[in-house]
Amino acid sequence: MSSQSIIVPQISSFPGHEGAARLMLRWLVQKNIVEPQLSTCGLTGNRMGYAIAEGARQVVEQPEALPFGQPVNGLEIITQRCIFMPEAGFLEEAGCPECQKEVGPVLFESLDDWYPGHTDNFICPECGHEDDINGFIFLQPCGFSDLGFIFNGWGEATLKPSFVQAFAERLDCKVRLVEVETL
Ligand SMILES: [Zn+2]
Repeated sequence: MSSQSIIVPQISSFPGHEGAARLMLRWLVQKNIVEPQLSTCGLTGNRMGYAIAEGARQVVEQPEALPFGQPVNGLEIITQRCIFMPEAGFLEEAGCPECQKEVGPVLFESLDDWYPGHTDNFICPECGHEDDINGFIFLQPCGFSDLGFIFNGWGEATLKPSFVQAFAERLDCKVRLVEVETL
């Protein structure tokens, strides 16, 4: 059992998402948090990712839990629209920030329209409040964006809040930290 820590901007369509991905990678490489070249250290698809580097020890609470020496240890950067959520035990609960009503079932059903890019927004069925789907309230952190940073196997080490904050400042966008258990 290991887990992914995923940093997701709280916006469906990140402006210039591919440029932002390159910018963030350059920053992570400068801080020696990941290696600059792709290698097979990821988890999904062709398993290409940016392998963990020494500087990673500075940005987590428990460096000894980092996946050094393990086959899956690197950063995958996603630049396609994706739904980032914990796979196990996800309750699909969501609330409206305007009327405070529970809107989870309708919201998660609406992802069928969101995923192909028909809309970035969700409209509250109770009060008509409309916002980017990320603007609704989620009890368990999840994210919906065309930009995402998956740190494979870093979950047990726990990213420092200061690192997540620095990430958000660099992106100039609020982010959510989504923890995903993987087998
Ligand atoms: Zn509402």
